[in-house]
Amino acid sequence: MEDKKTKLLIIGSGPAGYTAAIYASRANLQPVLYEGHQPGGQLTQTTEIENFPGYPEGTLGMEMMDDFRRQSLRFGAEIVNGIITKVDFSKRPFVCEDDSGRRIVAESVIVCTGAQAKYLGLDDEEKYRGLGVSACATCDGFFYRKKVVAVVGGGDTACEEALYLSSLASKVYMVVRKDYLRASHTMKRRVEQKENIEILFKCNTVGLYGEDGVEGMSLVRNKGEENEEYFNVPIDGFFLAIGHKPNTDIFKGQLDLDAEGYIITKSPTTATSVPGVFAAGDCADPIYRQAVTSAGTGCRAALDAEKFLVDANDL
Ligand code: NDP
Repeated sequence: MEDKKTKLLIIGSGPAGYTAAIYASRANLQPVLYEGHQPGGQLTQTTEIENFPGYPEGTLGMEMMDDFRRQSLRFGAEIVNGIITKVDFSKRPFVCEDDSGRRIVAESVIVCTGAQAKYLGLDDEEKYRGLGVSACATCDGFFYRKKVVAVVGGGDTACEEALYLSSLASKVYMVVRKDYLRASHTMKRRVEQKENIEILFKCNTVGLYGEDGVEGMSLVRNKGEENEEYFNVPIDGFFLAIGHKPNTDIFKGQLDLDAEGYIITKSPTTATSVPGVFAAGDCADPIYRQAVTSAGTGCRAALDAEKFLVDANDL
């Protein structure tokens, strides 16, 4: 198979990847963008986006990502429906390989591989995956119409998932390990106003039970305290919403990562530890993780890559 040569390889879609592609293609870098496992990224798994500027009435995550994608195609970005499986950043041009075994030889790279939902690490999560355990209410909520579900977590994601599920399920439990919700004020208020959402504070999940699928969860309340209490709650679905892990495994040993696996960039730029490789979006952002901040870093990465290529006389 013939090598694919490009001035700029963008790994990953989502707001960061597509924005980088829009800027880079308008600068005539003719970028090649690999969309990855989940074209459009995490926003395609969410419902309404109300906080992205320019959409006063809100929009659907899926539609917004489709708009981003079409905008990058309009300026000539080449979008490949595939996954980058290997990278070699030891020298330039960088040699990467995709899931069909094709080599991509790139003068510069922007990594926008995003992040994915975390699990608690219980054996039962594996046992019942697809049989009542999910990390995406918008993907799987439909199966729980008029049923009882639980959402684990107390942040904005957990509240968003619980609110979404509350319009389908008959009852939603939120399993929160602290005695308060970490979510924003607006989200907290919305959750508290929903009659069919019950928050189980100071509770941790010990396990799940059921014959052919989830039929209930075993919880411990006030763990390690005098009034520690174990109890079971019958449920049909168990949704995880406890944060995210960056998708950076293939960059281990190639780029400097922090203890959680996020790519370290040289602020205020998007430069990584390897000259010519830049990072944008959630894979390099443990703090903000918003669509708008991701898009912002995607823009910065494209400008950084362009400057790098000009300075290296590659343009
Ligand atoms: P967060 O890190 O904000 O919240 C994670 C939640 O999961 C916390 O309540 C945390 O508990 C809990 N948790 C973590 N690990 C465990 C565990 N092992 N067992 C039990 N509970 C656990 O993640 P989110 O995904 O909610 O949000 C990430 C970022 O994205 C935030 O900045 C958020 O504001 C933003 N966001 C914004 C949205 C919007 O504006 N529409 C929607 C969704 C997310 P504890 O508090 O005890 O640590």
